[in-house]
Amino acid sequence: MRITNCIFCRQQAIAKNEQGFATCNMHKKEVLPEMNCACKEILSIKNGKYGAFFICANCGPISLKKALSINPLVETEKKAVPKEITIRSDEIDFL
Ligand SMILES: [Zn+2]
Ligand SMILES: [Zn+2]
Repeated sequence: MRITNCIFCRQQAIAKNEQGFATCNMHKKEVLPEMNCACKEILSIKNGKYGAFFICANCGPISLKKALSINPLVETEKKAVPKEITIRSDEIDFL
């Protein structure tokens, strides 16, 4: 039996996200952002017998590994949320 790793953190995958990709329990709510092919075409996701993979309109099937090598996953931590900046009135004089 093949051990599948979570596409986000490489830990052993025991779940799947809504796109059909193997994930750990922690990342099953995460989804992959739009992926591009090496030819710049946007890849569509297909679910096959061996799990999810990508299809490029120009190049045909693209494995998850290949797609991730073209589109490195950037950690989508909470830092993506813009922080609210509050300027206190006593700081305005300084600016
Ligand atoms: Zn994970
Ligand atoms: Zn392509």
